[in-house]
Amino acid sequence: MGVEVVRVTDVNKTFTIKKQKSLKERLVNYRTGKLHEETFAALKDINLSIDLGESVGLIGPNGSGKSTLLKIIGGILSPDSGQVFTRGRVAALLELGAGFHPDLSGRENTFLNASVLGLTREETEQHFDEIVEFSGIGNFIDTQVKFYSSGMYVRLAFAVAVHVDPDILLVDEVLAVGDEPFQKKCMDKIHSFQEEGRTIVFVSHSPGQVADVCDRAIVLEQGSLVEDSTPIVALGRLRRDYQEVIAADQADQESSSSPYEAKIDRIYLTDSRGSPHDSDFQVVMPPGSDLEINCEVAFPQAVPNWAFSVIIEDFLGRTMVETDTRETLHVNMPSQAGTVRFQIALPALQLGEGEYTVRVSVRDDQDRVLDLLTHAGNFAVRSLKHVLGPVYCEPQVTIL
Ligand code: ADP
Ligand code: MG
Repeated sequence: MGVEVVRVTDVNKTFTIKKQKSLKERLVNYRTGKLHEETFAALKDINLSIDLGESVGLIGPNGSGKSTLLKIIGGILSPDSGQVFTRGRVAALLELGAGFHPDLSGRENTFLNASVLGLTREETEQHFDEIVEFSGIGNFIDTQVKFYSSGMYVRLAFAVAVHVDPDILLVDEVLAVGDEPFQKKCMDKIHSFQEEGRTIVFVSHSPGQVADVCDRAIVLEQGSLVEDSTPIVALGRLRRDYQEVIAADQADQESSSSPYEAKIDRIYLTDSRGSPHDSDFQVVMPPGSDLEINCEVAFPQAVPNWAFSVIIEDFLGRTMVETDTRETLHVNMPSQAGTVRFQIALPALQLGEGEYTVRVSVRDDQDRVLDLLTHAGNFAVRSLKHVLGPVYCEPQVTIL
């Protein structure tokens, strides 16, 4: 058991949104001048505990409550019900706009911000040059921050946050704003924070960043905590949930029956070994299995020299395998009106343990996309032996 530094117990947060809904309502409310009020539950019964030295990713769709939860942990917002406990100095790097006063200069904001975070004037003076140096703001330090670009703003905010010697660093999506060299500098700083055993809670839309930085990830969906696990499991969960949304959208689009030149009517995955399926995946197979993509494409009129492409992506959206009947396989697909049925087999697929999705498209001879499915199917590779990474092999050790 580690030392607990953050504990969130049964936290709920509701926002009241005031708006005028309809003309009728406006007329009804005219005399009282009251606006229509709606409440919105941004966080529902959140429970979590974070130990000293953990790096926790907070992921989820837009509007799922990530920033709200971060603000509640940082003490910037208070919950409607429930308790929040934190141990040590908390520095929060929140969304753009939070924390800095637009009319003050970068210098004044640095002192103000550092004092809010618990540093004395002397301590801030000691770190001041380092902060300016890290931010790369240069002479703009004496300019009012309202004239800063969003990139400059984030640079300074991050520089202050990491130099106040926090025990717990909360980072909202802001890092995406800076340019690449600065992002790298921030990631290096975050890594050295981890090595020093500090605690980090990190909101990011980049699965790669979460997988890289975090040893644990929490998924929020519509204000509820739906997963609290390893980054791989949490990112997989989020990806599957996104795909359900995408699949539903695709179904919607299909039902709006507009004319088409080609339509993928049916597609499903099979595994030559006939491994058992579970509810989440079309195919669950061991490494080295043959994966078969079975497909029916309908053509109202013959399309000459059309091509079918297959991409297999991992849980981070990285391409693992890409193939194309025309460009890589040099196969002429039958050009005829009606339904063309075919199977693309990927024999002895040496993918590592993990969860994968298949995207497919049909293109004409000008490379125009006639139909595509970003989520044509999914499968999981499970193995008893353990190697990590996207490629499977069976390493052997020989002591000589
Ligand atoms: P995320 O960071 O995951 O995108 P947020 O925590 O910013 O989500 O917001 C969660 C939900 O709460 C959103 O639907 C958002 O519109 C709403 N919300 C956030 N802050 C306020 C506020 N001050 N007043 C009203 N609604 C808010
Ligand atoms: Mg947010």
